Formats: sequence, structure tokens, C-alpha cells
Amino acid sequence: MSVSTVAADRPLCDELNVLGRDVQVPLAAGGEIGYAALDYAASAPALQRVWDDVAAYAPYYGSVHRGAGYLSQLSTDLFENARATVADFLGCRDDDQVIFTRSTTDSLNLLAAALPEATRVFVFETEHHAALLPWEQRDGVDVTYLDAPRTPRQAVDTLEKALAARDPYGPALVCVTGASNVTGEIWPVKELAAAAHAHGARIVLDAAQLVPHQPVHLAALDVDWVAFSGHKLYAPFGSGVLAGRADWLQAADPYLAGGGASRTVARRPDGGVDVAWHTTAARHEAGSPNVIGAYAIASACRALTDAGFDTVVAREQELIARVRTGLAEIPEVRVLSLFGDDAHRVGVLSFVVDGWDSGDLAGALSARYGIGVRDGLFCAHPLVRALLGGAPDSPAECGSPAAGGSPAVGGSVLGAVRVSF
Ligand code: PLP
Repeated sequence: MSVSTVAADRPLCDELNVLGRDVQVPLAAGGEIGYAALDYAASAPALQRVWDDVAAYAPYYGSVHRGAGYLSQLSTDLFENARATVADFLGCRDDDQVIFTRSTTDSLNLLAAALPEATRVFVFETEHHAALLPWEQRDGVDVTYLDAPRTPRQAVDTLEKALAARDPYGPALVCVTGASNVTGEIWPVKELAAAAHAHGARIVLDAAQLVPHQPVHLAALDVDWVAFSGHKLYAPFGSGVLAGRADWLQAADPYLAGGGASRTVARRPDGGVDVAWHTTAARHEAGSPNVIGAYAIASACRALTDAGFDTVVAREQELIARVRTGLAEIPEVRVLSLFGDDAHRVGVLSFVVDGWDSGDLAGALSARYGIGVRDGLFCAHPLVRALLGGAPDSPAECGSPAAGGSPAVGGSVLGAVRVSF
């Protein structure tokens, strides 16, 4: 099979790249071509409307919560309004808090740091490393890794069984993705949340891949927390959100100690220092916050709300169907799936091509056709291994495998190619 077969539908690639900017890239054979950036799952280009909103804010730029000066007051209002916009977008309950973080990874690490002592965490091995790894970093937290389920029903059954076997009295947390960054498959979040709550556990949703594609409402899904990143939601890099229940967050020590998180600080007669920490979101936002990042996320939330998720979902499903039909016509292509053909997907899809190293294929698509896809293990090594039928350890990094290409495993290659939009 030649790379041109995979690349044949260049008009479709251009169409998928609906929000990409007009970047010309050099081709190996000479000349230039408009780049079809199909790696939105890694980072989606910020919307023009978001850039425009940020530019409009530039003249009023000021540090927040820093006094009575006009620009500080104005920036504080914009920052707090951004928080309210995000709360609205996520369907937060009255007592939820929206904390601005750096990213999904940061949000989940914050929650891990805030877990009550001796929390038991339940997490599927299929998670992105950002959702798989933070929990064991907390001393005293016990993590149960759940095997990859092969149907949504099996996911719920597996979780129920694991929760039923736990000591019912201690705190417990389930961490689950909304949509896989590898297969694009949507997980049965509402059912998993119901199972968690039925067994006295709480649940955090890694919505990094779901939130740009489908409405994510904490109250409707009945999840306790949601984490996501701005740069996957058509806002620039550097900002993220953790939203949800305030109680565990406010009972915990601040994620970072410093100004902004502390309400009052005073020397004690014994020479030490007494600190009263905020009990609002500010408790976990020490230091000067990323005001522009928060403002950009709010702008992206408004843009998606205005576009309407019905429109977004309908268009996306149409495009996914075309991608799948095209790939199905190439016998050497195998699309990766945990849940099988009936799975609902967001605009994320990975595949392997018999006889091709994923890095070589992605490189050729870029150099010969100007089509940018992701290759490797997608920061979800156990999941990709499960999807490829098990594989030995490899030196592959989070993204592309180390130089020299991906090792061949059982007739396939360790690593896949991902198209996302
Ligand atoms: N969770 C999922 C499902 C992801 O796809 C990603 C990034 O690809 C993350 C978490 C981590 O996001 P970030 O790198 O923005 O922290």
C-alpha cells in the first residue's frame, strides 16, 4: 500500500481542518502546500474570535486582586466574569467552584494533592497518563487500576465490581475520561457516575477530549469534578480548569503556598507565622494568575455556545463517517477501537497500517502531502498496548517513538497514527 492511498482524500483533509490557519509547508519533492493540521486532539488552533477578544482586552491589561487601581479592578471583574462564564458552560451547581489551572494535567494533580487521607482511587488502565499517574504521587492513597473494558457496559460492570469489593467507609474517587484521546470513543460517564455514587465514591471526569465536542454539564452528568485544558478548547496554551465540589478542595492545604491563596498572614509571638487561607477558588490559585488564559477560555466557551453543540456534533459525525468510510476501503488499515463499531466517537480516530511504522507513515504524510497527524502512543501507553494486542515495553516517548521508528510487534507496529479535528 502506498502513502498516497491514505492521503488520497486531500479535499477531505482540508475540510476537516476547518479552524486551521493558512500555513504553507515545504514538501519533500519541492514546492509548498497548505498544511492540513489534523492533530486537534493534541492542541486545537485558537479561534479567531478568541484571539480578537484577547486583543481587545490588551489595552486594559492589569493584575487581578491587586488593589483599587482602575485596571486592576477591571481585570479582576473580567477574571471573575470568566469564572462565571465557565461555571455556566459546565452547568456547575451552586456550591461548585471553578479553579483556573495550567492544564488538565495540572487540574488532576491539584485534585490528587487535595484528596483526603487514605482515599482509594479507581482508574481504568485506558486513561491518558495525566489521569492515570497523579494519584500514586499522593502518600497514603491507594490506587486500583481497572482492566480495559471492551464495551461501555463492561466498563460500568468492572467499576461496580471493584467498588463493591472496597472498604465502604473510607473516601473513594473514580477518575474516568469523557472521550478517549486514542480512539475518540465516548465513555458512559453518566452510568459510571451513578455506579460511583451508589457505592459512596466520588468521580472526576477528564473532559480534555470531550469538552470541545459535546456539552459537559456537571449537574446533568452528576459528576463531582471536571478537568479540561484551554488549548484543546480553541483557546491558547497555558490555562485549564478544575471545576466541582468545594468541600475536599477547601479542606486541603493550598496546592501552592503564596500570595493570592492567603487571606491574612501574621507573625506569632513564638516567632512563627500564622496563615489564614482563602476558602474560595483563590486558595488553589496562588501567585499572579493567568488572567488572559482564563479570559480566552471564557471566550472559547461563548463561541461554542453560540455555534451550538447540536451543529458541532452533527457536522462532526458527518466528517467522522467520511473518514471511516475512506479508511475502510484500504484493506491494510485497522482502526483502533475498544468498544467496537457501534461506539460513539468525537472527532478523534487512530489506526495502524499493516507493514508501516507509525512514525514513518506520519512523516511521509507530512513531507509528501502536507497532512499533519499524530503518531506514537499518545501518552496512553497501556491503552495503546491493549489495543495492539499486548506489546513489550518500548522506549517510545509520550509522543513520537524515539529515533529509529517504532518496533514491530506481532505483525503490527508499536504505535499508531491519529487523525483528529
Ligand atoms: N486527558 C486527555 C484525555 C488528553 O487527551 C490530554 C492531552 O492530550 C490530557 C488529559 C492532558 O492535557 P494537557 O496536556 O493539556 O494537560
